[in-house]
Amino acid sequence: MTTPIPQTTPDEKAAPAQPKPSILNLGRKEMLALVAELGEPPYRAEQLWRSIYHECKTSFADMTNLAKGFRASLEERFSIDPFTPALHLHSRDGSTDKALFRMADGEMIETVLMRYEPDAHRKRRRTACVSTQAGCALGCTFCATGQQGFRRQLTTGEIVGQVLYVARIAQAEDNALIASRAIAQGEVSGITNVVFMGMGEPFANYDNTMKAIRVLNDGQGMNIGARHITVSTVGLVPQILKFADEPFQVNLAVSLHAPDDETRSVTMPINRRYPVATLIDACRRYVEKTDRRVFFEYVLLAGQNDSAAQAHKLGALLRGMLCHVNLIPVNPTEKGSYRRPVQARSLEFQTVLLTYGVPSTVRIEKGIDISAGCGQLRARVLDQAEATASA
Ligand code: SAH
Ligand code: SF4
Repeated sequence: MTTPIPQTTPDEKAAPAQPKPSILNLGRKEMLALVAELGEPPYRAEQLWRSIYHECKTSFADMTNLAKGFRASLEERFSIDPFTPALHLHSRDGSTDKALFRMADGEMIETVLMRYEPDAHRKRRRTACVSTQAGCALGCTFCATGQQGFRRQLTTGEIVGQVLYVARIAQAEDNALIASRAIAQGEVSGITNVVFMGMGEPFANYDNTMKAIRVLNDGQGMNIGARHITVSTVGLVPQILKFADEPFQVNLAVSLHAPDDETRSVTMPINRRYPVATLIDACRRYVEKTDRRVFFEYVLLAGQNDSAAQAHKLGALLRGMLCHVNLIPVNPTEKGSYRRPVQARSLEFQTVLLTYGVPSTVRIEKGIDISAGCGQLRARVLDQAEATASA
């Protein structure tokens, strides 16, 4: 006798398994609500939060301080990491790592980890540079992400997950330093700083970025101090003003890159919407309201925005403002034709700014050999995939 094969109508066919939502999307209050819904006392929310963000556990099964049934319910409903690592590169000097992540829908984003060894003046630092969007719609011509266009917004969990990924690396490194007696138990540093300078425009994904900041800043989790977090914006004026009202002391970096509309509009299409005068006015209002300095990013493009005359214009524009200018020799992208100025030119630019009382730093390069610039790793992987496909 043969067993009849069960008949299925098209509707009954198993749908492809949906990925479980990441628990990293939950804020503190949402986690408390989840724990109550699962019939657990409130202190379990704190234990769960610490297990994820302080102990950096990679699975619910490893959270052995939680009851087995509770762990099973969490496992059934949630994942922890919202993506899988697709590539992980280390720079030759060991200072920089770059990771490329593939998300459930196939989109890819990048995260960079930069290490700074302690010296006489500063403790050990590790900075995570995170993405807030897959791609970017703003089309700055020198930027690898801008050259690739916009894909989609990242969820809070996808933003937080990037920091958690590098926090686990930092934790392993700290543990190795303790084992070799290079540091004491109380000297672990983990991730000390976060900069929102990866792919995408954080202020075009405002709410998810702010929620991610609250998770990173939480004292019982990663405990990254607000003053050690920096959000970089292309210059979205309404959001700069909104950010001034946020109840935390997170740093603001503004990508200026030119001292006048004529120069800025060539490389930054957003300048037609928020021209230099409007942008600087918003920055002045931010400083007035918060009493905090603005960090201006100024990518030096040889022959375009690096002349002494442009340095004078920039000095005059920013004179008297509580600010700091980061001068960044451009990291040439494969599709762009930009060149970095010789070092003497960057230093001359800096000297001119100083005559206006405007402080600046020429930024130290990190991770050039692993394409650590904004969006460059994704661009390289996609280019390689294209090359392979057309070979
Ligand atoms: N969208 C935001 C944050 C991400 S870009 C912004 O534009 O500010 C982070 C910083 O990297 C910005 O200052 C941006 O102008 C800069 N950047 C982009 N491409 C670069 C390149 N090829 N070389 C150097 N800096 C670059
Ligand atoms: Fe977008 Fe920033 Fe790149 Fe401009 S520099 S395209 S805003 S990610």
